[in-house]
Amino acid sequence: MASSSGGKRPGSNPGADKSRAWRDRTKLTHAGNTPFENHGIVNPPVYHASTVLYETVEELRRKEKAPFDYVTYGRTGTPTSWAFENAVAALEEADRAIAMPSGLGAIAGALYAFLKAGDHVLMTDTAYFPTRKLCDNQLAKVGIETTYYDPMIGADIEKLIQPNTRVIYMESPGSHTFEVQDVPAIAAVAKARGIVTMIDNTWASPLFFKPLRHGVDLSLHAATKYIVGHSDVMMGIIAMKEEHFMTVKSQVHGMGYSVGPDDCYLALRGLRTMSARLAQHQQTALRLADWLQKRPEVERVLHPALSGTPGHEFFKRDFAGSSGLFSVILKPCSDTQLTAMLDGMRLFGMGYSWGGYESLIIPSNIAQARTATRWKADGPMLRLHAGLEDPDDLIADLEAGFARLRSNLTGESAAE
Ligand SMILES: *Cc1c(COP(=O)(O)O)cnc(C)c1O
Repeated sequence: MASSSGGKRPGSNPGADKSRAWRDRTKLTHAGNTPFENHGIVNPPVYHASTVLYETVEELRRKEKAPFDYVTYGRTGTPTSWAFENAVAALEEADRAIAMPSGLGAIAGALYAFLKAGDHVLMTDTAYFPTRKLCDNQLAKVGIETTYYDPMIGADIEKLIQPNTRVIYMESPGSHTFEVQDVPAIAAVAKARGIVTMIDNTWASPLFFKPLRHGVDLSLHAATKYIVGHSDVMMGIIAMKEEHFMTVKSQVHGMGYSVGPDDCYLALRGLRTMSARLAQHQQTALRLADWLQKRPEVERVLHPALSGTPGHEFFKRDFAGSSGLFSVILKPCSDTQLTAMLDGMRLFGMGYSWGGYESLIIPSNIAQARTATRWKADGPMLRLHAGLEDPDDLIADLEAGFARLRSNLTGESAAE
């Protein structure tokens, strides 16, 4: 394919990419696909490649000068990974995107690209827990220091900047507790000091929040979640402007990261239907949140689209919609009661992920995952993912769960 251009990466010249002018749903449907470079077939071919042959020494030398813009070796990328990367780049209003073997891989790759021994990173206190572990273990081991900050800090982040601060990292809304950050304010402070900003944009997906539009340098995703959307592939992606591409690509290439063609194909296939899926996730989550708010067993619902969640005003200002993941704090109850509720759920599965088509529920204990702020709630917290089931069936499942919780009031037995 693309033999007329000598296997050059399509869309690598940003000015030539017509998909830039499209609206999001059009990008979702068409960006990254080049059917007429492949017999008119709608979807890109799945290239299983390690060895790539060069016909002449001249061609070999030309392509080796720009290995990331040509097919040069399986690990550097193929038209299958490019199709996925170009589609996400278009959606993120970025020039480039780099697919990674997992979301955590994308986070690690992005951080390592800009940090070296002796540097300092400002990390939101509400970061995805494995991101925190990465800072506390892997980054600390090579002499990179982390300071956690209150996600609601806004422009006051300036006070935490040290002479060796190289990266400010955001995640908005925050993991499990859903605080929405004042991203433009933080990005503006960083920009004035020449500090690189990055954000975990997994919750909003590239559809509901555009980090680069708000001054952020790198947008990171666990594509595993909404982009793949079917609970069957691990994948990450880093989106950025051209100016950061070589820094990130040479780092992650140098560390040997590479993505498999079948996984890239599935991620791109997931992406094509993301707007339809997210519209339903959004609607169902709002319906469940509204229902839960009125329940006597519930203390508080933590959902960025509900007033009362910290940063709700930034959500209204900066986001185009909300996704399917949110939390609820129950009124104090015994562990036996909680267990009775969760063990009997029929539709809500218990599992550490989200973003697939299915509903999930998980008890979360985040007290030990906060150091810059103090998390206080009297009752237990549950994190829910609203899947694509009929919301009435989901409500019935929750209602039966609350009945089990109530009937175990004395804490004698978890059995029904
Ligand atoms: C799941 C998740 C990740 C990590 O993605 P993996 O693909 O599981 O490595 C990162 N950030 C957030 C917010 C996540 O939910």
